[in-house]
Amino acid sequence: MKYVNGYVCTICHRQFPADFTGMTCSHCGESGILDVTYDYQSMRQEVTRDYFRNHTDYSIWRYLPLLSVKENRTNDSLRVGWTPLYRSRQIGPQLGHPHLYFKDDGQNPTQSLKDRASLIAVCKAIEAGNPVVACASTGNAASSLAGNAARMGLQSVIFVPKRAPKGKLAQLKAFGSTLVVVDGDYKDAFRLSKEAIEAFGYYNRNAAINPHLVEGKKTVALEIAEQLDFEVPDWVVVSVGDGCTIGGVYKGFYDLFQLGIITKIPRILGVQSTGCDPFVEAFEHHEALRETEENTIADSIAVGIPRNPIKAMNAVCNSLGAFIAVEDREILSGIATLGKSEGIFAEPAAAASFAGYLKAFSTGILQATDRVVVIVTGNGLKDTKNALAAFEEQRLVKPNLEDLQKYLSETER
Ligand SMILES: *Cc1c(COP(=O)(O)O)cnc(C)c1O
Ligand SMILES: [Zn+2]
Repeated sequence: MKYVNGYVCTICHRQFPADFTGMTCSHCGESGILDVTYDYQSMRQEVTRDYFRNHTDYSIWRYLPLLSVKENRTNDSLRVGWTPLYRSRQIGPQLGHPHLYFKDDGQNPTQSLKDRASLIAVCKAIEAGNPVVACASTGNAASSLAGNAARMGLQSVIFVPKRAPKGKLAQLKAFGSTLVVVDGDYKDAFRLSKEAIEAFGYYNRNAAINPHLVEGKKTVALEIAEQLDFEVPDWVVVSVGDGCTIGGVYKGFYDLFQLGIITKIPRILGVQSTGCDPFVEAFEHHEALRETEENTIADSIAVGIPRNPIKAMNAVCNSLGAFIAVEDREILSGIATLGKSEGIFAEPAAAASFAGYLKAFSTGILQATDRVVVIVTGNGLKDTKNALAAFEEQRLVKPNLEDLQKYLSETER
């Protein structure tokens, strides 16, 4: 917080002071999403490569000077962040792509990248003296908010669409949130949450609206830079729904670039499903985003009206990146390949970024000489129904060696 010098509106570029308490621009209203700004000049004195090399807290809290929260809550919070970055052992070598990495963010405490944002939201709610946090979510924002709120002693009220996968609903129940399953899609859940937040005064964790959440999400980029010893990759690949995650990825690298810690910002590849691809459409046709259907198995990126369009577009355009879409069947085969070849189990939205990587590599957007990091945003255990859809039905084996041998020869690869 000490280096936060204010907020800037992503639409009209008006600035607001650091003690501004609104969530969006007072001139542009609700779509006037704010970006937190920092005094990099002062931050440079503290935050250097050596600052990171000497830091012993391997969690999101090692980035406290680059965050917009007041204090370090290492002992109170779940352990969020510092997820592994794996160099590919099978897929990259088989494709002739030597520098391929996977950032497995499914290893966060509630098994998705959303923990990075939700922990920050809980801290901001505590700072604001508000004991109840709320959000609408396709699933992961919800389960992460519920888990992090439970740990920090806050109540959570969660609005999810009725299609939310069972694994995520089970997490919400286990974490004791007040669960509102809305008879409708994500758009309906979002609208109802907004009305409830206004009516009942809950702390608002709705991703785009709250500018602090992208600050939490940017820590994934800070980690990637550190884990590659500040030799930043040429490309980072990430799946896109509302657009907050990709905005965060850009912001993290932007911060390090402003601090002179890295020498370039990677190009960012945003991946959507062909069943719900408003960013891809807008990017390809150079036009404004249009509402689309939410027709994909990748529930976490089934967002027909993205809430953070400007930060997401800026991330791709400023980094000279691209948006592409993949089919649901490519997502399913991505789950299988990533699991079998690397030992990483991804939920559909997370496998989407891997499927997008494969498509971009085969179409020449990514070159064999590029260093590429694919972010795996959530764990496959959250949605076992769709994971199983990637495979053949399991046949039962009779309890004798003969049938076992028959079965093994059938399944031989
Ligand atoms: C939320 C989410 C995304 C996309 O993030 P947005 O900020 O909505 O663009 C991707 N993958 C997973 C697993 C998610 O939960
Ligand atoms: Zn504005």
